[in-house]
Formats: sequence, structure tokens, C-alpha cells
Amino acid sequence: MTDFAATRALFHIPDGVIYMDGNSLGPLPKAAKERVARMMQDEWGGQLIKGWNSAGWFVQPRRVGDRIGKLIGAPEGTVVMGDTLSIKVYQALAAALELNPRRRVILSDSGNFPSDLYMAQGLTELLDGGYVLDIVEPEEIEEAIDDTIAVLMLTEVDYRTGRLHDMKALTEKAHEHGVLTVWDLAHSAGALPVDVTDAQADFAVGCTYKYLNGGPGAPAFIYVAPKYADRARPALSGWMGHEAPFAFDLDYRPGFGIERMRCGTPPVIALTALEAALDVWDGVSMDDIRAASIGLGDLFIREVEGRCPELTLASPRSGTRRGSQVSFRHEQGYAIMQALIARGVIGDFRAPDSIRFGFTPLYLGEADVLKAVDTLADIMANRLWDRPEYHEKAAVT
Ligand SMILES: *Cc1c(COP(=O)(O)O)cnc(C)c1O
Repeated sequence: MTDFAATRALFHIPDGVIYMDGNSLGPLPKAAKERVARMMQDEWGGQLIKGWNSAGWFVQPRRVGDRIGKLIGAPEGTVVMGDTLSIKVYQALAAALELNPRRRVILSDSGNFPSDLYMAQGLTELLDGGYVLDIVEPEEIEEAIDDTIAVLMLTEVDYRTGRLHDMKALTEKAHEHGVLTVWDLAHSAGALPVDVTDAQADFAVGCTYKYLNGGPGAPAFIYVAPKYADRARPALSGWMGHEAPFAFDLDYRPGFGIERMRCGTPPVIALTALEAALDVWDGVSMDDIRAASIGLGDLFIREVEGRCPELTLASPRSGTRRGSQVSFRHEQGYAIMQALIARGVIGDFRAPDSIRFGFTPLYLGEADVLKAVDTLADIMANRLWDRPEYHEKAAVT
């Protein structure tokens, strides 16, 4: 059984704060702060450019990728780190389309994260080959998979509602119809058990600043199924993904396997913070995380529905059909969330009207959830959200 009191002690959570936004930005693991300071001093400071070899910076994207791989069921050598998630979506989608050359339709759903859809739109414009992006409702996805589709591109957990797709079943149906799959695991990796091998996903991507606690702007990961590793063309053909980066050839030749999905120079400082953050997972069972997270989410739903009748549940009621977050709707959602944050309960707001709460048992327990509900109930009952400063929209919500 995972010792959640021990994992909680690994994080820096400011006094008086109940942190329910790990689905947007994980909190600071204490070890990351210390490891980055040491890296700056000893490696960057002491070893200068030699660090690419002597401190292992050059192989770090693969080394860290293998550790992420363990959390998502990917075999060694199939995951690499770099760039942002939006860029990795683009790379995976471009590669997948090329592997299914006779078809012209990308299928996705309206619950996907806008950036994923924007990247697909940008790619179809660039390709100018009659590609179309077909966006249907999440409930209609299964039925929409047919022999015309080239690539099914989905995010497993809906960022707004937390609704969880059945990755294995949808991938199976996609393959029956000759469709390749690109799965975005932004709200899955580190939140629930994921097994890209068992699900037979063709490509998977995800970010590391949410449930993996790598810090703001931490680099993304990409997984390519072994059978495509040496056939997938990376689309963004940077020198670090070249077969021999330091041969400085004038012509691009993709590197071996997952190496080709690298693009340019890796963000070593950010990767070092992430690498330290991943130590948190040693001795942690993802099944324990999942069970505890569902328990906290269920408790929150029960308490909020009992005490705040003005709020409408926007997430699936059944824990097994949600990711690790719960959302409620209210037309004053933005102001309500600002009032909560002012009282130390940190969640976030997603337009048009959802307040969103993450349940990460690594550093959040039942007592925190009950306290958060007390605060929310007080805000609702006494209309404490109705102050001018809580209605002022910030750039990031
Ligand atoms: C968080 C998130 C992103 C963000 O992409 P970045 O390029 O890292 O800003 C993209 N897609 C999904 C599904 C997300 O949840």
C-alpha cells in the first residue's frame, strides 16, 4: 500500500493552501529545487560544455523518457522528451497521417484540448492535400470510426469534464477499420494506470507539468509503437533527431527508433527538475493512486451536492468513468473560483462556466477535501464571490 503521508512530505505546499490544481500545474517537489541548484552549480557551473557528455545531458531525453515509459506501459527506448505538448501532437499526427497515405480524414472530438485541434488544423492547411479534421461529440466518437478515417486523435481524459475515454476499446475499433491512433495523455500520465502497449496505441504524447510535477514549462513526451519506430517520419526534422547529429551532414537522415522524434537542443535545466520530480513515483502504486483519487473525487461530489445545490456536476458521476478531476458548473464560476483561491483553496476555471478541482492523493487527503468543501459552502451560502475584484478576469484562468 502506498504511503501517502510519506509522499505528501516530498512536496512543498505553502501553509494554509489546499492545492486542488495538480491537473494544471503540479506543486514543487522539494527534491527538484535541490537537484536543480546542484545541477546549476556542479554541472553547468563546473563542467560547462563538457556536461553534454560528462553529466549525461545529451542522453537525458531518452533516460527521462524511459522513466515516463514505466508509468504509461511503454517499453524501454520508445519514449523521448522534448519541446511542448502542442509540438509533439503535431509530430505524432504528421507521422501517423503519412503512415496511412490513402486516407484524408483526421477524427477527433469536441472534448479535445483546443491546442491539439489547432495543431491539426494548422497541419491540414500546410499539407493542402484535401485533408479534413472531423470533430464530433465525445459520445459519438465510437460510431464515427470507419474506413475513411486516417487517424483517430483523442485526449484520453477531457480537460473540462474529466470524462475518460476507453483507450483500449477505441484503439481496437480504430485498428479494425485500418485507422491509426494518436492518444494525448496530458491528464492521464501520473493520474491513473495507463498501458499504451496493452491498448496497442500507435502514438502517444503528454505533458509533464501536470500530474508529473515537472514544473511550469516542463518538456513533453512522445511515444511511438515499436512497429513504427523506424518508419515514422518525424516531420520536424531537427539536428538532434538526425542519425548522426555531429557529422553535420547537409542532408537529413532520421535517427534510429525514437531518437528521430527529438528536434533541437533539450532543455537540460527543466529536464533535471523533472527527473528529480519523477523520484516521487518510486514505491508508489498507480492502482493505489487511482483508488484514492476516485475516493476523494466521490467524497467531494457527495459533499458539494449536499451543501451547494446551486452547483451542477459537470463530470461523470461514476469514478471509473472520470480521470482525476471533478468540475462543477455555475454561471458565476469564475468569481466563485477567485473567492476560493483568495481563501487558500486553489482550483481553476475553464470557460464558459466550469470550476475544476484535481484530486491527487500524493499530496491531498480527505481532511483537505472536507475543508475545501466547507470553504466552498460558505462562499455559496453567503455570496462571498460577489465582489468586484473576483469578477476581474486575469490572463490565465
Ligand atoms: C495541457 C494540455 C496541452 C498543453 O499543451 P502545451 O503545448 O504544453 O501548452 C495540450 N493538450 C492537452 C490535451 C492538454 O491537456
